[in-house]
Amino acid sequence: MSITRQKAIESAIEHRTNEVPVLTGGRIQEYFGMNVFSDEQMKERLPKTIYKALRKTIEEGVPMDYSVADVVAAAMSSWAIERGATHYAHVFYPLTGLTAEKHDSFFSPDGKGGVIMDFTGKQLIQGEPDASSFPSGGIRATFEARGYTAWDVTSPAFLMESRNGTTLCIPTAFCSWTGEALDKKVPLLRSMQALSKQAQRVLKLFGHDDPGMILANAGPEQEYFLIDRSFYFARPDLLSSGRTLFGARPPKGQELEDQYFGTIPDRVLAFMMEVDSELYKLGVPVKTRHNEVAPAQYEIAPVFESANLATDHQYLIMQTLQRVAPKYGLACLLHEKPFAGINGSGKHVNWSLGGAKVGNLLNPGATPHDNMQFLVFCAAAIRAVNLHAVMLRGAVAHAGNDHRLGANEAPPAIMSIFLGEQLTDVFEQIAAGGAKQSKKMGMLTVGVDTLPPLPMDATDRNRTSPFAFTGNRFEFRAVGSSQSIAGPLVVLNTIMAESLDYVATELEKAPKDQKKFNIAVQKLLQKMIRENDRVIFNGDNYSAEWKKEAARRGLPNATSTPEAIAAMECKDTYEVFAKYGVLSHREAESRFEIYQEKYVKDVQIEARLCLSMARTMIFPAGVKYQQLLSQTAAALVTMGKSGCTTTLDEVDTLLGDLQKAMTMLEEVVKIPDGLSHPQQCRYLIGTVIPVMNDVRKVADRLERVCADELWPLPTYQEMLFIR
Ligand code: ADP
Ligand code: MG
Repeated sequence: MSITRQKAIESAIEHRTNEVPVLTGGRIQEYFGMNVFSDEQMKERLPKTIYKALRKTIEEGVPMDYSVADVVAAAMSSWAIERGATHYAHVFYPLTGLTAEKHDSFFSPDGKGGVIMDFTGKQLIQGEPDASSFPSGGIRATFEARGYTAWDVTSPAFLMESRNGTTLCIPTAFCSWTGEALDKKVPLLRSMQALSKQAQRVLKLFGHDDPGMILANAGPEQEYFLIDRSFYFARPDLLSSGRTLFGARPPKGQELEDQYFGTIPDRVLAFMMEVDSELYKLGVPVKTRHNEVAPAQYEIAPVFESANLATDHQYLIMQTLQRVAPKYGLACLLHEKPFAGINGSGKHVNWSLGGAKVGNLLNPGATPHDNMQFLVFCAAAIRAVNLHAVMLRGAVAHAGNDHRLGANEAPPAIMSIFLGEQLTDVFEQIAAGGAKQSKKMGMLTVGVDTLPPLPMDATDRNRTSPFAFTGNRFEFRAVGSSQSIAGPLVVLNTIMAESLDYVATELEKAPKDQKKFNIAVQKLLQKMIRENDRVIFNGDNYSAEWKKEAARRGLPNATSTPEAIAAMECKDTYEVFAKYGVLSHREAESRFEIYQEKYVKDVQIEARLCLSMARTMIFPAGVKYQQLLSQTAAALVTMGKSGCTTTLDEVDTLLGDLQKAMTMLEEVVKIPDGLSHPQQCRYLIGTVIPVMNDVRKVADRLERVCADELWPLPTYQEMLFIR
């Protein structure tokens, strides 16, 4: 066996965690949020007038004065330094989808050989990292390198601890010298503002004179894989592209269905507990942990929060998973499809909107048919998804998700809504003239006297829908496990704002008299449902029939990232983003460019990896086996026996095919000069990816016949089942 692989197996089997984790256990109240400069901290440490001014900024968006910022900066830094911080960092969220941070020390030389503490309000509010190394999609030429970060007061500062020190992290927005958004936070905040404004207009019509701020809420469920770290390092594909480019299916996959909600392995549970406690310290309200469907796949989910905070916290969840894993000898894989043939990972984004004064606007109550306000918000969401399906699809498009969307174990690339039995029935009644009743929820009896009767939900679940109503929220399931939730939320908020604007504009024309207003609402609901019900689908989204049916209904089905981006890049998208002040034409255009470029780079890296691994690891293993077999056959012949060559012939053929496929890949791997981004994408999809697939197909067949001891790469079986 190759030494690397053998060592990886040994090390995985013998793994012992010797570091003692800190702070896990039963005193969550004592450490939850201990590393956050929370509202409570601010109240305690700031003079009353300053605290009030800061709250005004947070709640009403009143710009902050430098004199206020100076006092906040002093309080924040002394809190951080008391807790051991030496540096501060403006954390921002560039279009790479990762977080970025630049650390500065709190201390400066005092000119007399010592240091003084130096952290002003200006430094708190504003930073100036060099923007030229972040993708800007042509918004900014490299010589105009100025970029600014600005403190997002709605997301609290926190302390990031590491083995050798602590850093104060300040969540910030990132924009160019010309004021254009270079990040994911600015559009998110803008979209939340737009949504709030349009929702307020609708609410006023329903008698809420002062509905207060309306927030978009998000609860993201994160799926991920954990494998032993030694396997990870023995697989160049995992290391550089996040997924396996080779690997024959193991004899046992997920067919026994023995993993989902199964007992969590010891090492993994210990890991999860430390992840949870690290996140608690940062005030991230993680709540759920369990095994997922595929072997070695797990899930973590927090309680929902405002979309902005949920997004910042989601980044922290991904970071913490990856940061803690090595302590337990594990590698955390966030890629959408690390292993072919078993489930991939998604990030289900639960989304709703509401406010302190009006509650959750997607709560149907017990009798949805007479809850006009709910029906209007729900119908607005249906209309939004139908009219702007290409935007939703575009928001989840990236190379990794192409292996998941439309594949066997995931929602298809067709955007549709699951409403469930009760609501579908209500909306069908509305479309037919008027809703008179809601199907009842009932009680479920199990037939065992000692078990209590269970209150039943009005609808069953549908795990196959990309966008499902789940009782009091929508669950957007097409989001990829590795991506930031900001983009999907920006689209959801924006298209919902557009739909609510439509509703408000229509209903503002209606007579104020209650009876007549109700009739106007009924009419509008009827119109909205009749015009948009093609997007409602309660059946099996994975089925082949649905693809045909969806095509018949005229629903878009972009099966690859380039197609999805091209479809999203249309007049309607530009107009909607611009109209609600979320992204200017230039900002939107730059994003399309960046995401196409990212796709090209991702696929190119994989193509180069595929070629080099086939060449330098897999082909040589096959040749060794060929040599072994041919030596044996020759020896048998000299002994006067018939040298049976069945396997040798098979290996010969496979090596020949592999050689051909590799030569082909070698020829096409470099993208011809002079192609535009869309042309490059088409080239990769039409020419490069099919050849990569050919290489893999032959290599995986070779793996199935080659002597195990010669195989150089950790196998699926080893990676997925040695824990
Ligand atoms: P599931 O049953 O789908 O596994 P959970 O009940 O664990 O999901 O909830 C999934 C996520 O949905 C959690 O983050 C939860 O906080 C979130 N969630 C619950 N209610 C809402 C809501 N009204 N708006 C947004 N997210 C919500
Ligand atoms: Mg869920």
